[in-house]
Amino acid sequence: MTERVSIEKKVLSENDQLASAIRADLAKRKIFAINLVSSPGSGKTSLIEKTIGALGKELKIAVVAGDVQTENDANRIIKAGGKLVRPIVTGGACHLDAKMVGKALEQIELDNVDLLIIENVGNLVCPASYDLGEAMKVVIMSTTEGDDKPLKYPAMYRRSSVAIINKIDLLGTSDFDLTAARGNASKINGDLKFFEMSTRSGTGLEAWYGWLRESVSNLKK
Ligand code: MG
Ligand code: ZN
Repeated sequence: MTERVSIEKKVLSENDQLASAIRADLAKRKIFAINLVSSPGSGKTSLIEKTIGALGKELKIAVVAGDVQTENDANRIIKAGGKLVRPIVTGGACHLDAKMVGKALEQIELDNVDLLIIENVGNLVCPASYDLGEAMKVVIMSTTEGDDKPLKYPAMYRRSSVAIINKIDLLGTSDFDLTAARGNASKINGDLKFFEMSTRSGTGLEAWYGWLRESVSNLKK
């Protein structure tokens, strides 16, 4: 094993330990936590804005918003009505790790929170390797990207439980083939649950909200 590989292994195993501690704490508090991952521009922040607008009154939602250089996304989410929002500016790092998330969570009043949404840095490569203590990863692809994204970034699709196809209002304006996209994702991970939506037009969002409500209430049983 080269030295570089062994350092990487050590970093990841330390990260896994921290993530396990975060997961245990969230479980104790009965908080449903999702880690939103995608390429830049697929609609993570828009989805969080819509979700807070629709569910913010019935669910207590906390958001950790990761970004490389700005707090723009966190500010958008606060503007959309987010009350428990913490930005993480990674200062160049292309992924969130469990240490950053743990620190951000220390600064959020987590009592009675139902749902935690972690917006990862827009990147389909290393966020696949970093467990953040979430219940599941939710990967978003949009119709303005290639429908072969799942084949190009299989680790991310393998490690996600839910796949969202966003911007379906733009179907037909590019070569994106919805059937091919779903087929490619299923080829990598046959257990993926799919949502097709447009955060802009609102199409398909009700199914997403329903699934979140159900996931939150399942935890409280
Ligand atoms: Mg964003
Ligand atoms: Zn990275």
